[in-house]
Amino acid sequence: MTAAFISDLHLTPERPDIFRAFVSYMEHQALKADDLYILGDFFEYWVGDDAMEPFHHNVANLLKQYTDSGRKVYLMPGNRDFAIGRQFLKQTGAIWLKDPCTVELNKEKVLLMHGDLLCTEDQQYLRYRKIIRNPLVMFLLRMTPLSYRKNLARKIREKSRKAKSYKSLEIMDVTPSAVIEFMNKNNVGTLIHGHTHRPKVHEVELSQGKGQRIVLGDWDTLGWELTTENDQLQLNSFPIIPD
Ligand code: MN
Repeated sequence: MTAAFISDLHLTPERPDIFRAFVSYMEHQALKADDLYILGDFFEYWVGDDAMEPFHHNVANLLKQYTDSGRKVYLMPGNRDFAIGRQFLKQTGAIWLKDPCTVELNKEKVLLMHGDLLCTEDQQYLRYRKIIRNPLVMFLLRMTPLSYRKNLARKIREKSRKAKSYKSLEIMDVTPSAVIEFMNKNNVGTLIHGHTHRPKVHEVELSQGKGQRIVLGDWDTLGWELTTENDQLQLNSFPIIPD
């Protein structure tokens, strides 16, 4: 079995170049894998399955074609698309992944995360995350009219943009001690995550020896994927052709 990992595509109708790159990815590279893991922020934002527009259905159809071919799609929520619901999963055949979770790759237990939980310096965000991800809060939000949720999502995005401009670069990256803590607690030597938009393979000193933290990149001028072909974890990038 080979797996491919992607994250942070931030798909939106406003970036047709990224959508085209994703179409091409699903029709070529992704087919080399049996399992496709999407580790969050697949969409730029998600206000509810009832807000799907033709663009979102086009994306859903690509995932559906993939799962129809006998392959699997695993979807982990990111900080921007955590509101993806049952209808989207049913429509695509994708399987929901909790953040964090462990999977077996090449006979090794590996930890998967979106990555926002590793940014522990940003206490303000983590407090907000806890509230907005509370099942009761999410249930109640789903009951509100679409216009209310759209407005709320816009406000959250604006707030996050403003906050980013004064938060230091360190706050926006993972906290090394949090990485070690999550890896030790889950007893893994490999962690794969996205979110920070800083694609790289890092060596990590763990209590039981050296480990690795693989950071997927966001799709912008380049697309990124991690593959497990030939039992090797390989972080690849490819150009995204602009409009
Ligand atoms: Mn993110």
